[in-house]
Amino acid sequence: GGQWSDYLEVRGLHVEFDGFVAVKNLDLSVEHGDLRFLIGPNGAGKTTVIDAITGLVPAAGSATFRGEQLLGRKPNNIVRLGVGRTFQTASVVEELTVLENLQVAEGFRRKGRDLLRRPGAPSQNVRYMMDVCNLTADADRTAGTLPHGKKQWLEIGMLLVQDAHLLLLDEPVAGMTPAEREQTGALLKRCSRNRTVIIVEHDMEFMRQFADSVTVLNQGEILAEGSVEDIQNNEDVVRIYLGG
Ligand code: ADP
Repeated sequence: GGQWSDYLEVRGLHVEFDGFVAVKNLDLSVEHGDLRFLIGPNGAGKTTVIDAITGLVPAAGSATFRGEQLLGRKPNNIVRLGVGRTFQTASVVEELTVLENLQVAEGFRRKGRDLLRRPGAPSQNVRYMMDVCNLTADADRTAGTLPHGKKQWLEIGMLLVQDAHLLLLDEPVAGMTPAEREQTGALLKRCSRNRTVIIVEHDMEFMRQFADSVTVLNQGEILAEGSVEDIQNNEDVVRIYLGG
């Protein structure tokens, strides 16, 4: 498909847990090339939105990416549509090297059976993405020995080699050093140039520095949306965050 269709469009997304409404009739559009931050107080429904889009919780409504309906599909099926997601705790294979993790991830997207084969020479794609994620010097290092920040980069790299064009990242800089935050921001900025990126984030300074646009959730609904400046000047947002 052309670039015109390379965006996420969510309409009337609705998620309930035993009658408790976690996400209420949510509309959300995120364009290709946008680095969108999803913020809001604990329990606002941010993770549930991502869970719904990636098929981890059942949801009503509609969520299309590149024109394909994501709701109602299995998580693996959604990955194959170019949707990639990271979790707060890195889910790399600790026993494999950085390079092997990337090779396994690449094989997973192509054909499940490649998982069973010992990886041969790395593809150009793997080498390129490893470089983009600042991991080339650590190629042969066992992933379990990486510092926290680099594990997160490896996870992002695993999405990139899978050709993910919608990246959904849950608190990517949590627990990172200031230097790692800076590098992660630069990496995500670069990723977002030709992808659609949504970041669930608590770190307001990181948001100020890197967000193109911001959606604020509260009690399962959108409280405000706009540029960082719009959000910072929004009275409702200030009230929610300062508890006034
Ligand atoms: P956030 O990510 O903004 O902190 P969540 O999406 O994790 O918020 O949670 C939104 C609300 O839904 C919370 O009240 C939470 O307790 C509830 N919730 C989330 N997941 C489940 C679940 N699997 N079962 C029951 N309630 C859930």
